[in-house]
Amino acid sequence: MNAEDIASRIEALRREIEHHTYQYYALDAPEISDAAFDSLMRELREMEAEHPELVVPTSPTQRVGGYVGEQFASVVHEQRMYSLDNAMDFAELDEWIAGAQKVLGHFPELCLELKIDGSSIALTYAKGELVRAATRGDGATGEDVTLNMRTVSDVPLRLRQDAQGGLAASVDSIELRGEVYMPKKSFDALNRAAERAGKQQFANPRNAAAGSVRQKDPMVTASRNLSTFIYAIADQRALKVRSQWELLEWLRRAGLHVNPDVTRAKTLEEVHEFCSRQLERRQDLPYEIDGVVVKVNSFTEQSVLGFTSRAPKWAIAFKFPPEEKTTRMHDITVQVGRTGVLTPVAELDPVVVAGSTVSRATLHNAEEVHRKDVRIGDTVIVRKAGDVIPEVLGPVLSLRPDNALVWQPPMTCPSCGSPVVTEPGEVALRCVSIDCPAQAFERLRHWASRQAMDIDGAGNEIIRRLVEIGRLNDVADYYSLTEDELACLATNRSDGEGEPVRLGRIIAAKLMAAIETSKTRSFARVLNGLGMRHVGKNTAEALAHAYPSMEALMNATEEQLACVDGVGDIVAHSIATFLRTSDNVAVIERLQDAGVTMAATQEDLGDDVPQTLAGLTFVLTGTLAESGLSRDRASERLSAMGAKVTNSVSKKTSYVVAGEAAGSKYDKAVKLGVPVLDEAQLLRILESGQPPVME
Ligand code: AMP
Repeated sequence: MNAEDIASRIEALRREIEHHTYQYYALDAPEISDAAFDSLMRELREMEAEHPELVVPTSPTQRVGGYVGEQFASVVHEQRMYSLDNAMDFAELDEWIAGAQKVLGHFPELCLELKIDGSSIALTYAKGELVRAATRGDGATGEDVTLNMRTVSDVPLRLRQDAQGGLAASVDSIELRGEVYMPKKSFDALNRAAERAGKQQFANPRNAAAGSVRQKDPMVTASRNLSTFIYAIADQRALKVRSQWELLEWLRRAGLHVNPDVTRAKTLEEVHEFCSRQLERRQDLPYEIDGVVVKVNSFTEQSVLGFTSRAPKWAIAFKFPPEEKTTRMHDITVQVGRTGVLTPVAELDPVVVAGSTVSRATLHNAEEVHRKDVRIGDTVIVRKAGDVIPEVLGPVLSLRPDNALVWQPPMTCPSCGSPVVTEPGEVALRCVSIDCPAQAFERLRHWASRQAMDIDGAGNEIIRRLVEIGRLNDVADYYSLTEDELACLATNRSDGEGEPVRLGRIIAAKLMAAIETSKTRSFARVLNGLGMRHVGKNTAEALAHAYPSMEALMNATEEQLACVDGVGDIVAHSIATFLRTSDNVAVIERLQDAGVTMAATQEDLGDDVPQTLAGLTFVLTGTLAESGLSRDRASERLSAMGAKVTNSVSKKTSYVVAGEAAGSKYDKAVKLGVPVLDEAQLLRILESGQPPVME
């Protein structure tokens, strides 16, 4: 083959593969077998390997690549990404339609679509090629997730040629919008794998989709089997189409994945009928929906109706009521929380509710169990709405068996056997023993959890084993673990000869690295992680803002604490009691010695960081091995306090920070007489926000 033949064969293969990808993912109508498809891909890969100069970013072989790094770049949306107003029932929906009818002077033609329960996404195509993908963020600014969205199979890397005809003249860049979602099947598989690995599971497919789109490594996103449904364009003027219906047709022609379940309606009855039908078939769909979106079809009429600051006035989401299922409650067990609260938990025969399998649901407290009159053996109604944890609504009395058992609250803690108390003014039963292993386990788990210190790999099973062997008693113990002891840790699984399987080097090393990284988490996360009663994420953030160091927080009086946003007398009392208890102070001191963040970081203070280092120029060289702080992170924190961080040493440099294996920059600093700081001094600057005091 001559060069021209090779290039045209490669292009023909790409077109063919794109066509079959579209047939398979967007239309669900494959025309060739998987084996034949794989063979086309193989040929393309081989040809590209021989002719690397012909590889282009839009080639189907180039979906996965690159690395996002520590942070996503922000993307300012040229047109705001709106939310939707909701109608919770037909009465509210009818009222909204009547409002639109009044403004327009007639019953508008409506376009009805499924409301996909995923995460909003904006895809920008320039000259037909995918150049950017961004999340909605706060509507005005989102995050650049291009590398990750490129791995989603039904997102075309270039638009089909058919699309060209629909573009308005002189338009060469368009932003398309829709939803990226995780099919129910992928979600179940992901959660099962997380469960096996002892990792936290996702609450629902929506969170799983959002989390998968925001991965640092596109390979991980690629493994999550995400899909999209595209239904909007940022600027309608870019296309020659005149209605939502025509837009969907054009999107389909352009090669995007468009949901097939759409209809147009001209009467209220048609609208109700479509909504009811979708509500009924909701369980049968392979992905989650949480309603129907009703849109005024004509673009001209849409512009007459306009927008509020939050949402279009020409569309509304008819929200489905939270899904309810019935199942048998075969037991009520008692869970001990990290603050010692005993919570009765309904043990259920597994049932799929709102996209995930539910086998346990909280019953809150003993009073609630009796108020709802749920008995062991009852068939109960279970509900799960969005993010909300599953809830038992009540029993189906007609199905109550004769031997249904009235539950009795425990007199002693099921974990440590100490007597149970009820504190004045509280309904909760509580175990007040400080040596209760269940409480310790929950505290340790909370510290490592995603909303606190986010120690990747510290799953339930590992934590439980470390508690069992007495190696983890409090959260500071994490920082004295060694790679050797973790590698030798026996798991609960055994090999063929009945010997326990050990954790092994690779997992141990990863976990050690994650523990190390956790030292640099924000101060708010540390405060949340400590698990003070009544202090969750929001309160921890408010505290970190008001008292930007542990020292300041410990010196605050109860009255002062009560003035912090969201902190009242009760919360202030609980914080003060916690911070004045000697055992807790000892743990905090050990955390501090281990190098865990004890003062507000840039993340804590947002834009309000005092510019105490303004006018100073820093150069960082060598690795910051002791603190595990990356150079990027260190320079980010210095810059946040107003310092300039540059790459080369000159007479104008105020300080050179030399980590391990510092090279020529160190030498140059010495030559020029620029003060050289070590890592410990850097950490002091970051903590205090003050320039170093030089002897
Ligand atoms: P909510 O997040 O509940 O306010 O609902 C608004 C969101 O629904 C939008 O931002 C979209 O991400 C999402 N959505 C899902 N399906 C559709 C659809 N067919 N049309 C418009 N928005 C949709």
